[in-house]
Amino acid sequence: MPYSNDSQALIGLIAADLANALIATDFDGTLSPIVEDPALAVPCDGAIAVLRELSAHCGELAVVSGRPVSYLSRFVPAEVTVVGLYGLESLKDGQTQVHSNAGIWRETMDDVATAARLRGPKGMVVECKGLSITLHYRGHPELEKAVEAYSEIAAHSGGLRRRAARMSFELHPPIDEDKGTVIRRLAADQSGPVVYIGDDIGDLPAFEALDELAAAGRPVARVCVSSSEVTAQLVERADLVLNGPGAVVEFMKRLIEAAQGQ
Ligand SMILES: [Mg+2]
Repeated sequence: MPYSNDSQALIGLIAADLANALIATDFDGTLSPIVEDPALAVPCDGAIAVLRELSAHCGELAVVSGRPVSYLSRFVPAEVTVVGLYGLESLKDGQTQVHSNAGIWRETMDDVATAARLRGPKGMVVECKGLSITLHYRGHPELEKAVEAYSEIAAHSGGLRRRAARMSFELHPPIDEDKGTVIRRLAADQSGPVVYIGDDIGDLPAFEALDELAAAGRPVARVCVSSSEVTAQLVERADLVLNGPGAVVEFMKRLIEAAQGQ
């Protein structure tokens, strides 16, 4: 964490070519505080305004999340690219795109979600997002092992892939998309620095994509937002650790100010 307390050098590096930069951020835990009921997550004060302003100064600004685009686009300004379900769908310049192999999985996802509601561990919350399913044990930490075991069975029965997430397990179609493939694709459209802001285990592939970009000579900033539940793997690999979504808003403001001051 070379910049954990002195972020000025890192901000200067990114701001020096902000017009060609890709700035990408997760949603939950980075723009919105973590809440007990994920359906109630909303961006923190100032987040929407700073996203709108930053999007006017950088090459591309993107929100990359495990949530569906339909949820994210309720909050994220239209100028900002929205990538949902770990890359299975996106919304950019008013155009919605769904991964070409994803649509055929909707029926399977519905079936697996229905079965999970009927046969899953009591207390597990089943959230079906169309092309992904989240099996939550938030509020019931004692259910972790039972939900983990059930998610394995459900993944196997539906031919799905499983991903550990915050207080939950997620089921996805077997399509090679994650936040790493998303970032590689978006970064290819820009020539400048690449910033990724994450807080969760699902953000690790994005950090790995930044490792590759850094090795190829691109300036990068791996930004981790800390919370009581943040994964240590992400903190260890971060160039900068921010304390909650409010600090992300401040970080984005500082990027804009630094770019304007140059
Ligand atoms: Mg998150």
